[in-house]
Amino acid sequence: MFDSDAKKSDIFEKFEKVGQRAEAVLSLGKLPFGMTFDKILSPTRALVDGREIILAGTNNYLGLTFSEAVKSAAIDAIARQGTATTGSRLANGTFREHIDLEEDLKTFFRAKSAVVFTTGYQANLAAISTLAGRGDHLLIDADSHACIYDGCRLSDAETIRFRHNSPEDLAKRLARLPDEGARLVVVEGLYSMLGDVAPLDEFVAVAHEHGAYLYVDEAHSVGCYGDRGRGLADALGVLDKIDFLSGTFSKSFASIGGFCVSRHSGLDLMRLVSRPYLFTASGSPSNVAAARAAMGEMMHGPDLSRELMARAHQLHAGLAAAGFAAASPPGPIIALPRPDELTAVREWNQLLAAGIYVNLAVPPATPHAKSLLRLSVSAAHSAEEIDAIISAFRDLT
Ligand code: PMP
Repeated sequence: MFDSDAKKSDIFEKFEKVGQRAEAVLSLGKLPFGMTFDKILSPTRALVDGREIILAGTNNYLGLTFSEAVKSAAIDAIARQGTATTGSRLANGTFREHIDLEEDLKTFFRAKSAVVFTTGYQANLAAISTLAGRGDHLLIDADSHACIYDGCRLSDAETIRFRHNSPEDLAKRLARLPDEGARLVVVEGLYSMLGDVAPLDEFVAVAHEHGAYLYVDEAHSVGCYGDRGRGLADALGVLDKIDFLSGTFSKSFASIGGFCVSRHSGLDLMRLVSRPYLFTASGSPSNVAAARAAMGEMMHGPDLSRELMARAHQLHAGLAAAGFAAASPPGPIIALPRPDELTAVREWNQLLAAGIYVNLAVPPATPHAKSLLRLSVSAAHSAEEIDAIISAFRDLT
């Protein structure tokens, strides 16, 4: 009820529906949103309510959060540089390591320019909103992540959505555009909810034919695909034809932060005008050091993406045999569509009780209002842990 202490209108009224939905979900068990891990034990294990559980929904694809090299780089950075930068990149927040990280990214992705951001969300927000301005056209895949949509909202360009993973639909929409203004096509590599991958080679061809730039968010695919984890564009042989490639340090890179690299040197100029780059503090020394060390592991350590894919195949096949068909072919993200939201919530709770943590993904965070149990695989999962996950699914009632 609205308690009127001289306010014109109840500012919280708009949250009522979502509150009611959360209550219905809560009545089925533990609330999955905002779940607390009391202690993280390893990339694949945590303590919840005093019990050890297997983690199967963390995006820790390479399991590098506990790598000795990555941890000691972060600890050493704190010892040398302190805990924070206390300022934005353009003011006092650019340390030598931010530049070194940008140089490493250029080498890794064979790019001419690289810009590091404080989060992956900000990388897309900044790059998309700044690259496409008034009079330009943004063409985005309909299943794009929220931060791509938000980048479009912050841009003065006109935004046009095309059918998910459809180069044909994109070509049709590009053909209808006037000649004036730049064209920026935005797609992802590996889609985070359903685990499906984009036909990047076909998108490259369509963008090229219609004089458009291609921007690929590889937040989930870097580390998992391509030579040494360079991503899906590399795996498909088109890395050098992608105009802009963005990503995050919060998944395979075992840190926090984001980046955009480009084969055009003009990207660097963005630093002068991009609000999500300018008006926020830069990544902390430990975050930057951890991301650099993780990239070093990807470039020079054992090929973890192979182990990851072997586990992904094992899990995908085991779940299928247990009657849980995934939405996409085997890959680091395995999404299991459930008949409705309440079934998904009930099963999520049963799995947690059986010692398995997966992601519960429900509308509006999912494409086509699907309710999903979403699993992400890690190179750090043992074959026995994968078997335990499959067996918990088999026991679902
Ligand atoms: N892009 C995609 C496709 C994502 O899934 C995410 C986050 N899950 C981001 C960007 C944002 O990354 P971050 O969480 O590092 O801000």
